[in-house]
Amino acid sequence: MMQLDDPITVLKGVGPKKAEALHKLNIRSIDDLIRYLPREYQDRTEVTPIGQLRSGQQTTVIATVQRVVQNYYRGARRQMLRVHVSDETGALSILFFNARFLKNAFQEGRAYAFYGTVSQVRTGLAMAHPQFTPAEERESGILPIYPLTQGITQKQLRDWQRQAAPLYGQVREYLPEEVVKRNRLMDPAMAIANMHFPENRDRYGQAKFRMIFDELLALQTGLMIVRSRSTGGSGIAFRRQPLEQEYIDGLAFPLTRAQKRVVRQIMEDLESDRIMNRLVQGDVGSGKTAVAEIAMFKAVRSGYQAVLMAPTEILARQHYEGIAPAFARYGITCGFLSGHMRAADRRQTLQKLESGGIDVLIGTHAVIQPDVVFSRLGLVITDEQHRFGVDQRIRLREKGSNPNVLVMTATPIPRTLAVVLYGDLDLSVIDEMPPGRTPVKTRSIGEESREDCYRFVEQQLARGRQGYVVTPLIELSQTLEVRSAEEVADELTERFDGRHGHGCYRVALLHGAMKQEEKDRIMEAFYEGDIDLLVSTVVIEVGINVPNATVMVLENAERFGLAQMHQLRGRVGRGSHASYCFLILHGESEVARQRGEIMEASSDGFLIAEEDLKLRGPGDIFGTRQHGLPPLVLSDLVRHADVLEKAADEAKRLMAEDPQLGRPEHEGLRRRVKRMFGNDLMLDL
Ligand code: ADP
Ligand code: MG
Repeated sequence: MMQLDDPITVLKGVGPKKAEALHKLNIRSIDDLIRYLPREYQDRTEVTPIGQLRSGQQTTVIATVQRVVQNYYRGARRQMLRVHVSDETGALSILFFNARFLKNAFQEGRAYAFYGTVSQVRTGLAMAHPQFTPAEERESGILPIYPLTQGITQKQLRDWQRQAAPLYGQVREYLPEEVVKRNRLMDPAMAIANMHFPENRDRYGQAKFRMIFDELLALQTGLMIVRSRSTGGSGIAFRRQPLEQEYIDGLAFPLTRAQKRVVRQIMEDLESDRIMNRLVQGDVGSGKTAVAEIAMFKAVRSGYQAVLMAPTEILARQHYEGIAPAFARYGITCGFLSGHMRAADRRQTLQKLESGGIDVLIGTHAVIQPDVVFSRLGLVITDEQHRFGVDQRIRLREKGSNPNVLVMTATPIPRTLAVVLYGDLDLSVIDEMPPGRTPVKTRSIGEESREDCYRFVEQQLARGRQGYVVTPLIELSQTLEVRSAEEVADELTERFDGRHGHGCYRVALLHGAMKQEEKDRIMEAFYEGDIDLLVSTVVIEVGINVPNATVMVLENAERFGLAQMHQLRGRVGRGSHASYCFLILHGESEVARQRGEIMEASSDGFLIAEEDLKLRGPGDIFGTRQHGLPPLVLSDLVRHADVLEKAADEAKRLMAEDPQLGRPEHEGLRRRVKRMFGNDLMLDL
């Protein structure tokens, strides 16, 4: 008989090749397999005749393959497979992009079942990247859909899950009885069964609650353990005199009221011997950097070192170039550290840092490498903290002995959530913009107006301004009707570029797949004004400040979340020139239209974030990746805030009793936490 611990190769149909593919999904044993949960479910009961299909509909079509045509375009860089199919009521195109491997998947004259979303293309109705099987092998009913990896199909995974189903009964409860009782948790075996193959809505609801609870309890417990390792003891108290005033008086601008308030809150923390642990949240452009500078000035004048960590090389360098000269006027020495430095420079910086010759270190996550040693670190600051992992933030803190901690973010986060995520973190909000900013004029337009938009961009460039054109990052399965960054860059180069096209400007492309050095080089050139128009995927970094850039065009804007559009729009409107943002919407989605309206009407990041929450489906502006947490499979920290609170309560209780989860009855939970956080975190459980 099969056991939960057995390797997956005991399943019928899993040989060494399939096993290897499953390893990529972290599935090694039967136990791993049954814990690998569906991402969604699809109702395959409904079959629609082709004649009755509507654009946007998600359904099954059963149709006979007439012809398979392979097209190449864009100089053979892209390939499209068009499968012409029909039933008695009509004809339909099935499209696959860059999927040569499917060329021989279809037999002409044979009937297949296709499940996917219907869309309107130039030539009529189509279905892009549907799931398909020969008609006689079609599975009907409510089907679980699993996240896949190459070499494995839904059908195979479902089949293996069915084979493993008799083992659900072997899954044991691993939580203490009181926790189960207090939260009315469904038995784990039953919960797993209902996640894969739901019996009914009710059971499914309870099963999902159990799974989400488990996940959030592991998250909370893990975070508490990590935090408990790095706090405790009393903190460093900075001098009580208003030393920072000298720096504030020397700034080129008076602080806004909001900045003053936040500075005061920070000073109170710094002057007390409690360790500061504060999150500064302020919309894009609200002036968080100045606040950080003031805090660092205070640290140095109190006899300590400070460090500022930024998520990208270009942002770190931008900070360094702004801050170092300003501090030099007060005799304060800054150093810079990143992953791309000559060994000799790096060594010298490290020596000066250790001997106290550098007061303020600014850099990327290079500042947390083990050989970076401070002589008297008193303040650590993380900019755009949501881009860093929990472990990185903690490593930074551990560079000092109980240093004061300041983290800054433009990503709004509700207070309750902040407390759960970051523990006893105090929150300061910069809820006011510096004066003189005119909001970025925003228009959402259809594709038919692209030409007008480009003409407008041209006028801006002609005045010596710079601009960004951003395209969404897309997955292969969604390539229909989406313009890729390359495509857009080709077109804009043709039109605007003086070196390769007809225009007299300089156009460059920046995308995620480029090497870091290449990206940095292009950003640097844009920063220096050597590039006029930058076409990029969403990799353009947060926090980038190029005041001369005045126009932002978002292609396929319907694919961006509101919060993301707001962040991107924040790249313009940073100088004294009026700035503009165009959202080019493709298609006629109602949600996209509403988002466009919100963007046109508002420049308030907090309001936009709220609207985003209302509009978005299961997306993740508060998703874990935004906050540097381990990935969550089922939970959404906002939608499941109530479960999160319950889990946080239980975690607190557990931690009070057994801070390292060492007791035998907590063994199961400890393993679960360990699996979630991986081994490289400081969680050496
Ligand atoms: P963010 O909060 O997005 O990090 P920055 O700190 O980069 O914003 O500030 C954006 C711009 O606003 C910078 O050019 C900065 O010099 C300027 N700035 C900051 N505070 C003020 C202020 N009180 N008055 C005028 N300009 C300010
Ligand atoms: Mg910033």
